[in-house]
Amino acid sequence: MTIATARRRHALDLDDFTPEEIEEILDTAESMKEVLSREIKQVPTLRGRTVVNMFYEESTRTRISFELAARALSANVVSFTARGSSVEKGESLIDTVRTLQALGADMVVIRHNQSGAPHLVARHFAGGVINAGDGRHAHPTQALLDLLTIREHLGQIRGLKVVIVGDILHSRVARSNLWGLTRLGAEVTLCAPPTLLGPAAYWTATWPQVKISYKVDEAIAGADVVMALRLQKERMQAGLLPSLREYSRAYAITPERLARLGEKTLIMHPGPMNEGVEIWPEVVTAPNTVIDEQVTNGVAVRMALLYRLAG
Ligand code: ASP
Repeated sequence: MTIATARRRHALDLDDFTPEEIEEILDTAESMKEVLSREIKQVPTLRGRTVVNMFYEESTRTRISFELAARALSANVVSFTARGSSVEKGESLIDTVRTLQALGADMVVIRHNQSGAPHLVARHFAGGVINAGDGRHAHPTQALLDLLTIREHLGQIRGLKVVIVGDILHSRVARSNLWGLTRLGAEVTLCAPPTLLGPAAYWTATWPQVKISYKVDEAIAGADVVMALRLQKERMQAGLLPSLREYSRAYAITPERLARLGEKTLIMHPGPMNEGVEIWPEVVTAPNTVIDEQVTNGVAVRMALLYRLAG
């Protein structure tokens, strides 16, 4: 066990994870998959611990998989959404966290539309905090489940050519994946229209090894993994795209583009998908598309992280 692992209380992004720690979490997730394949998908590891899921922003996959993960470890799970809580009466995030602590929460899983909200919670909460997605900043458990899915199919991450295509500017998935993929030695290319990428220097200042492309056909040639991202209309200021149709023509993963890729190239998407915008329905159901496996792996990865953070 690395020192980082031994001391870790929070998982706020992958930027402070070493490659060894990431690999260890993926190994733990493999063991959790074995638990999930049993008839009784539950172990007593977190019995008596309380995990609170605080979701201030919409979620299907992440919220349900954190709930299932905590239950599979026998934790008490409470799911909290801003709607219907005292947040609607104006209670601040810090007061809400103090309240949860006073109620006996041991771990908090938080999704928030403000970047940095999980870091704020971590400063005011005595237990562990897991970031389930904050603004455009980070989504570490998504990146871990993506890494697990890639590793399962392609054996290792080192040396793989991974292309992330789409609305990168607004994507916390892209940022966390950049940390994880580059730490484990993948060659990452970001591909987007300039308006959905932002200044190239912003990316290369943080991840100097990353390549930038504005042409999807060039970017995906010879790729081992193509990760399509959702066009995040809810975070988009007007005027970033001429039209959805034009965007799709230039950047969507279409059956024609799929046909030009190798049979072993993995097609991924974090969901939710805009089918017919960034990915075509025929691509979603293609044999080398692993989107459902990504979702399945999300439970095991979140179990692994809850287990390791609980110490
Ligand atoms: N589900 C992912 C997230 O929460 C990706 C997306 O919403 O497009 O960031």
